[in-house]
Amino acid sequence: MITIIKKIKVYGPAFKGIQDILLIGGKIAFIGSDISADFQNGIEINTMDGEGKIALPGFIDSHVHMLGGGGEGGYKTRTPEIMLSDLTCAGITTAVGCLGTDGVTRNMMSLLAKANGLDEEGITTFIYTGSYQIPVKTLTGGIIEDLLAIDKIIGVGEIALSDHRSSQPSYDEFVRTAADVRVGGMLSGKAGVLDIHLGDGERGIEYVFRAIEETEIPITQFLPTHINRNPHLFEQGLNFARKGGYIDFTGSEDPQFSEQAGEVSFGKGVKRLLEEGISNETFTLSSDAQGSLPVFNENNEYIGLGVGSAKCLWTEICHAVLTDQIPLEIAIKGVTANPAKILKLQGKGRLEKGYDADLCIINEATMEIDTVFAKGQLMVKQKEPMVLGTFEKR
Ligand code: ZN
Repeated sequence: MITIIKKIKVYGPAFKGIQDILLIGGKIAFIGSDISADFQNGIEINTMDGEGKIALPGFIDSHVHMLGGGGEGGYKTRTPEIMLSDLTCAGITTAVGCLGTDGVTRNMMSLLAKANGLDEEGITTFIYTGSYQIPVKTLTGGIIEDLLAIDKIIGVGEIALSDHRSSQPSYDEFVRTAADVRVGGMLSGKAGVLDIHLGDGERGIEYVFRAIEETEIPITQFLPTHINRNPHLFEQGLNFARKGGYIDFTGSEDPQFSEQAGEVSFGKGVKRLLEEGISNETFTLSSDAQGSLPVFNENNEYIGLGVGSAKCLWTEICHAVLTDQIPLEIAIKGVTANPAKILKLQGKGRLEKGYDADLCIINEATMEIDTVFAKGQLMVKQKEPMVLGTFEKR
């Protein structure tokens, strides 16, 4: 499978100018000007004109409820599984799956099967072991064992803290879990990240601050998520990032509305980080896709539960760039180079020679996702006007 993309603006995530990109066998073989490939023997070369387009690394979504989630309003509020196109059409070529509140009717075996299925369909997947609860319900009987035995398991999560739906673990139970995921990560050569769901509770990330003060566990082992759900929690998150910790924003399909509802949008949050001189390598953005989401009407009244969409990643990035003047090459770090580094995902998150041929190509004029490649395979094809025919013809 050989593809040449001609004359495209490349953000890798840093801006690299207008270049040609050569994809061979699922990898980026070369990025440079005027690549010409002259193959004989009928080898097929797929050429794409990149004019008016932007190439970004395929997005990494570090928090996806692949099996669906919810159920918190009774059985009828359980949300559906994600489909491949929900991810690829949103520019996502790498996804990390997790369970949520419900680790009983959905379990690790079915999450692993779902992740394997998405992988077979062409994207790259990983999973966290566990759900909201401590003790963590693992696949093989232990956290360290799971990390050692199952390639796809790269950490534990999402463990719920400061939330009425959490298992209200004691501090000791929490620290013990963090210790296991740390050791499991070390022994298996993986990130061993503890992905932490934070609710609206006053305590916020108190346990995590205490753990980094009282134990030897490195701060980089923790990845608190939903950090932008309210201003109080976000201030704690800023503090955490100042100390060298990583924080994960949860995207919204309507950033303006979520700002009005009291959340801190990705763009506003990143702006604060940059203003305070905090490294732009500390943040990630994830979708929480297929999780259940409260839905409000225009008067801000609760009207029921909806389903989170993976599309929010690109929506938030566009909002951050257009409304908050965050440079594109910084904004996209949250879904490319940063999660790749934090989660130790080799060959991911950058457009560079030797990296996986995961690309999200944007139409510059419309700012829409145009074409997506995952491991060199065309997953979403450049949009062409749909011809439905006319009544006369029928
Ligand atoms: Zn959550």
